[in-house]
Amino acid sequence: MCDRLYETIDIDTIPNNPYLLLTPGPLSTTKAVRAAMLKDWCTWDNEYNEMIQAVRAEVVALGSRSDAYTAVLMQGSGTFSVEAALGTLMPRNEGTLLVLANGAYGERMASIAQYAGISCVTQRALETQTFDGEALETRLKTDASITAVAVVHCETTTGILNPIEEIGKIVKKYNKLFLVDAMSSFGGIPIDLDALEIDVLISSANKCIQGVPGFGFMLFKKDVLARCKGNARSLSLDVYDQWDVMEKGHGKWRFTSPTHVVHAFSEALVELRLEGGVEKRNARYRANQLLLVEGMEALGFTCVVEKSLQSPIITSFYSPESQSYDFAEFYKRLKCAGFVIYPGKVSNIDSFRIGTIGDVFPEDIVCLLHAIDEAKFW
Ligand SMILES: *Cc1c(COP(=O)(O)O)cnc(C)c1O
Repeated sequence: MCDRLYETIDIDTIPNNPYLLLTPGPLSTTKAVRAAMLKDWCTWDNEYNEMIQAVRAEVVALGSRSDAYTAVLMQGSGTFSVEAALGTLMPRNEGTLLVLANGAYGERMASIAQYAGISCVTQRALETQTFDGEALETRLKTDASITAVAVVHCETTTGILNPIEEIGKIVKKYNKLFLVDAMSSFGGIPIDLDALEIDVLISSANKCIQGVPGFGFMLFKKDVLARCKGNARSLSLDVYDQWDVMEKGHGKWRFTSPTHVVHAFSEALVELRLEGGVEKRNARYRANQLLLVEGMEALGFTCVVEKSLQSPIITSFYSPESQSYDFAEFYKRLKCAGFVIYPGKVSNIDSFRIGTIGDVFPEDIVCLLHAIDEAKFW
């Protein structure tokens, strides 16, 4: 092949970011990831399709050592993939979905079910607490109509980490399908799909794998997806058909694929491997988060979620009680200093959030803490 195709881009020519994103995604990516987006690539030739196949195999390998799973990529933000997965998993006129909800993303799954006309019940917990296992077990024992259970792993609303190991055990004891929204945790927290017997796991390009936004992906148990033909309520969001075309076409997408984003994602996967894989990335995120909490507590802030339930992904802090505090002003000052934080999302608690994922390192957290100390105006 002609060398022209492989002309490399000088990373030093890639501009710096204006600030560090301390958000749950889109998040700060590396220059190499951004550089991967500087060329326009063909979508239908072998080279691109091989890249898709490699990406699919690699995301499966991040969570499973068996060959029980397949990865299906789907255009759109993460919610599109959640909607695609639910709408394809649940048969049209049978079965009930139980959604465990302790935050906005759990509620969103219930809302998706409602739009799609999927029979759905919810078990709720307070946003700062996780689910009562006994209540779940009683529900599954007594309500035979339930065929599937869906839960969010890291509920990004608060940063709480739901115990999918314990929940999965109960779900599987009653032989229900188990769907996990691991959008903000997959790639940053080890998840063993084989051990947890997860039927569908959903994540996206722009969270812990550290790519840019534009598509999501689903890890489906192959034998489960094989039974889902004809279930989908939407043509574009038909995961079975998307899978069928990707399999038969060896990496072909049904409709226009986000080529630049896929190239960036492929580079992000290389970087995840170079970092040492999910365990190593998890160690970095944990180090970021521990340093953040230690520093914030020293500055007088308090965490919303108790430490035993807190994820290393994103942390909610109570807003200062002072009358002169105002999030918009705090945000503006930190942005000028080079850090973008996130508004709070917990109902009934005035809070803000700081993410610790992305191309972010403990030394960045040290600088952030210094900037927060300087920004204090209340
Ligand atoms: C980010 C996220 C989603 C998807 O959100 P989009 O805005 O559609 O990308 C879904 N669930 C969780 C838990 C998330 O953190």
